[in-house]
Amino acid sequence: MTWAATVYTLFPAMFPGPLGHSLAGKAHDQGRWSLEVRDIRDAASDKHRTVDDTPFGGGAGMVMRPDVLDAAIGPDDERPLIYLSPRGPALTQSRVRALAAGPGLRLLCGRYEGVDQRLLDARNAEEVSIGDYVLSGGELPALVLLDSCVRLLPGVMGAAASADEESFSAGLLEYPQYTRPADWRGRVVPEILLSGHHAAIAAWRRQQAEELTQRRRPDLWQARPVATPHGLGAGRAVTQPIERTTR
Ligand code: SAM
Repeated sequence: MTWAATVYTLFPAMFPGPLGHSLAGKAHDQGRWSLEVRDIRDAASDKHRTVDDTPFGGGAGMVMRPDVLDAAIGPDDERPLIYLSPRGPALTQSRVRALAAGPGLRLLCGRYEGVDQRLLDARNAEEVSIGDYVLSGGELPALVLLDSCVRLLPGVMGAAASADEESFSAGLLEYPQYTRPADWRGRVVPEILLSGHHAAIAAWRRQQAEELTQRRRPDLWQARPVATPHGLGAGRAVTQPIERTTR
């Protein structure tokens, strides 16, 4: 079954944007995912096609009307409705994996000061943030979320570029990557990578990934799954801090 995305937006021309290119564009052309873009303004009922109004209680800006959004979204289906919002929990790779494994997504892109709370409550919308900063609309976050999901769909990345060793896959950042030339302006590739010794290379990469994660993202390091006698637990270091080799 095709993974199906529907986007509700006041700026339909912003889609598919970057998702029409590269991996996502090719996967779309191959029918691995579909994209439907609905213009929220089409659901407005007055001659000015009004979608927003002033906030009750006063304050700056405008708020998107619940009745118009409700009509734009139409009947619910089995796909989660996600409202891109700086107030939501930050998007994580594990949430992306879960969403990519489902039937698809419905994405509501806010504008102005956001969306009337009653619409979010009535539709049981999940709020998702792409970071602790405020953008002018939900369209870029929707593209980010879609890209992160689509690349994980079966057959999209292919065997050569597996997601298994990427950043966050085991609660770690990815190890540093190198390619030709082996010596570039006197900067040489770590000797181990030229050894052909697969087990030693895997151990080196793991060590580098752990070191990077400890140094750059102590929050991830503390929360990563670790082996215990009872299976996987979280947050207890089993590896000693590693000597720093990568910035
Ligand atoms: N008044 C809102 C607040 O302070 O939380 C911000 C509204 S913002 C100007 C307009 C829209 O951009 C939001 O409704 C949301 O859809 C989107 N948006 C802005 N920043 C975002 C972020 N970090 N993650 C996800 N969506 C975001």
